[in-house]
Amino acid sequence: MTGGLEAHLRALIAAEGPISVARFMAEALGHREYGYYRTRDPLGAAGDFITAPEISQIFGELIGAWCATVWQQSGRPDPVNLVELGPGRGTLVADVLRTIGKIAPAFDAAVAVHLVETSPALRAAQASALGARPHWHEAIEDVPQAPTILIANEFFDALPIHQYVRRGRAWHERLVGYDHADAVWRYEVSGAPTEAPLDPPVAEEGDIFETCPAGAAIMRTLAGRLAAHGGGALIIDYGHRASAVGETLQAVRGHKYAPVLEAPGEADLTAHVDFAVLARAAEGVAVFGPITQGAFLEALGIEVRTQALAAAAPDQKRRDDVLSGAARLTDPRQMGSLFKALALIHPQPGHPKLRHSKPAHPNQAPPPGFKASDRHDR
Ligand code: SAH
Repeated sequence: MTGGLEAHLRALIAAEGPISVARFMAEALGHREYGYYRTRDPLGAAGDFITAPEISQIFGELIGAWCATVWQQSGRPDPVNLVELGPGRGTLVADVLRTIGKIAPAFDAAVAVHLVETSPALRAAQASALGARPHWHEAIEDVPQAPTILIANEFFDALPIHQYVRRGRAWHERLVGYDHADAVWRYEVSGAPTEAPLDPPVAEEGDIFETCPAGAAIMRTLAGRLAAHGGGALIIDYGHRASAVGETLQAVRGHKYAPVLEAPGEADLTAHVDFAVLARAAEGVAVFGPITQGAFLEALGIEVRTQALAAAAPDQKRRDDVLSGAARLTDPRQMGSLFKALALIHPQPGHPKLRHSKPAHPNQAPPPGFKASDRHDR
């Protein structure tokens, strides 16, 4: 398999010259035949990395309750799409659906499940977790237009990023080339300054700045859908609040960091999400956060739920797993602070006093887990 992707990339570079980091990342992760996500289930102990829903069922249960409340805040639309971007093994959406089946049967009955997933291997895993209920799509644009509750956990970090290097007063795109003599992939820098409209903060010679136009484009589409049809979205990922210089693209293989260019197609590649850019792209909706994952889960009541599950655990081992899983999600030294939550909410529908107010909808009720003061002002 490795051979296939590497040969494809070498041929691409021979034909077109060095490729952008974004192209490298897109091919390494998503190439139809040899891409990392196309060829395997990368999650879990036997895979390369683990995510919050795989660590603890409480994550999906709290998000299920979040979805049910946002559905109510949105005026209980029926039918409503429950959309997940990049559902992995389907664990999160399975926990969400189990929870809403228990606490919000009317929501459950109104829901059509739509999964945006490009990986055939992971679609198969999702089908075994969820049965025949979901509809699958290649991209968010393919999901039917309707009121929407959308969730995305560790999806945006997998989208291709561009990297630019500061040279004098300009930015030059960083490229990936192939060194035939040493048979290794290597970084190069474009000779000409980029024409991309970059809006980076202060930078020094040699600094690297990353952009993710694919992520911003998805946010624009999502916000447009919410503004047109109503609903809300919850985006959880690791990353930073404010745009900043710095190289964050990383490769992970077998739960360990690996060099980014070492084995394309064999390692997971992700980069920090720039939440400032995502929030700015969400035009026409109310944006809350980002707040830390720890603060978000604590506000949703992770403590109480953890104690209840621990008390019900059949033995000490299971009890310890429940407690350590919850701690891993919320502890600032683990996932509690690097991971962040961002919410988009359709402005309150049909409220006569708010309809023409500017800035739009100042009295928007915050979604669960967020405070009115978490409202993001553009
Ligand atoms: N949300 C899951 C999995 C995260 S891994 C969890 O928390 O466990 C990233 C997921 O996004 C995988 O399901 C991967 O196949 C999917 N993915 C990556 N790039 C994608 C793209 N461009 N379009 C749709 N899905 C994508």
